[in-house]
Amino acid sequence: MHAEIISIGDELTSGQRLDTNSQWLALQLGDLGVRTLYHTTVADDMDANVRVFQTALARAEIIVATGGLGPTADDLTRQSLAAATGRELKLDHAALADIEALFTKRGREMPQRNRVQAEFPAGSRVIPNPHGTAPGIDLLHTRADGTHSRIFCLPGVPAEMREMWAATVVPSIREFTGENGVIQHRVIRCFGVGESDLEAMLPDLIRRGRDPQVGITVSKATISLRITAKGADALACDQLIAPTTQIVRDCLGELIFGQGDEELEHAVLKLLGTHSASLATAEWGSEGQIARWLRAVPGNEISYAGGAVLGGLHSVGQFLAMKGSAAELTKEELTRRLAERCRELWHTDYGLAVGPAPASSTNLTQGTADTAQPPKIWLSLAGPEKTISLSQLFAGHPDLLIIRAAKQALNMLRLALVKRANREGNAE
Ligand code: AMP
Ligand code: MG
Repeated sequence: MHAEIISIGDELTSGQRLDTNSQWLALQLGDLGVRTLYHTTVADDMDANVRVFQTALARAEIIVATGGLGPTADDLTRQSLAAATGRELKLDHAALADIEALFTKRGREMPQRNRVQAEFPAGSRVIPNPHGTAPGIDLLHTRADGTHSRIFCLPGVPAEMREMWAATVVPSIREFTGENGVIQHRVIRCFGVGESDLEAMLPDLIRRGRDPQVGITVSKATISLRITAKGADALACDQLIAPTTQIVRDCLGELIFGQGDEELEHAVLKLLGTHSASLATAEWGSEGQIARWLRAVPGNEISYAGGAVLGGLHSVGQFLAMKGSAAELTKEELTRRLAERCRELWHTDYGLAVGPAPASSTNLTQGTADTAQPPKIWLSLAGPEKTISLSQLFAGHPDLLIIRAAKQALNMLRLALVKRANREGNAE
């Protein structure tokens, strides 16, 4: 059973207001086991609304529309739905009494124009709106071939829409779909390879129609695998999800750093905690991004001593307490020294450093750089036993470069801590 969500309003199509109702409704439908195939946004225009409703009624079994139920001339949902389904608008006396009562409660008389809010396409059920004057519409539409669509129209005001959704629409959708089960998701978070490489490591898990379903999304170089199962209750879902989770773990190993909405900084702080180890950072090319992420995690101060955000060669030379000029050393060597200096200065177990951002990085994205010399950024991790360094390609969209470098640095530390845990585990 598929759904279409329709958002109605000039403020949405003109870009003045973000359509948050659609996002929220799609998540709710997903939790009911209903896949949303279409999101449609339409202006306050009669012809356009009629066309949108007709299209939706022809291609979706469940339609949820928001907006256009107000009392003013630009609110056209009632009329356009009536026109799209070939029904008359009829006054519902009980709904009118409710609207009048709402005004009375607020110490006002109902303006005449609010009367239209009690008009419904013939055959509709009224969806009560306890906190607003716009009741919703619930209409079962039968197509020429005898199949049905169920359409729910709700007000655009998000608070009213949500309240009515939970109180009236959810039970109606459950009844309509005949599904009583629950949907559970588990999200596994990975870092270290590209999306397509990661998918290639999984044995046909992302296939449509697989049960449980596995979806893959990337956000700022972090890959999320979302496993979704439908079952009678939460326990049944967990039992369905577990074998797939195991396959993912076996295939991806150390690429996995967490679950749910965990980020690399959470994983790193957790690992530092288990080793009772401490960290300090020096960021030259990453604008303090690592420090910001780490500091934002509650309790971080137990493991994270602090960090330096460095601006240029001069401040790097000063931070390193160098006698000569920092310009005489390579970027690799400077980055290594920054990591080691962190340990020394803050007396921490680990020092993590990000080297300078290559100046040509933005040129490369504009296609003017010398491609024989791809720009790279140095990362270095000084630990109790040794210092390791690696360089990473610094190319791509400028907005992502620093984030990727900062994540790569955190990941370098994470992998070192995982290795240490494995070593200590084996030694026991
Ligand atoms: P309406 O029901 O069309 O009178 O909408 C009432 C108000 O709800 C609008 O002025 C918007 O501020 C808000 N609204 C309407 N549709 C949406 C939407 N899709 N997402 C977020 N807010 C909305
Ligand atoms: Mg509107």
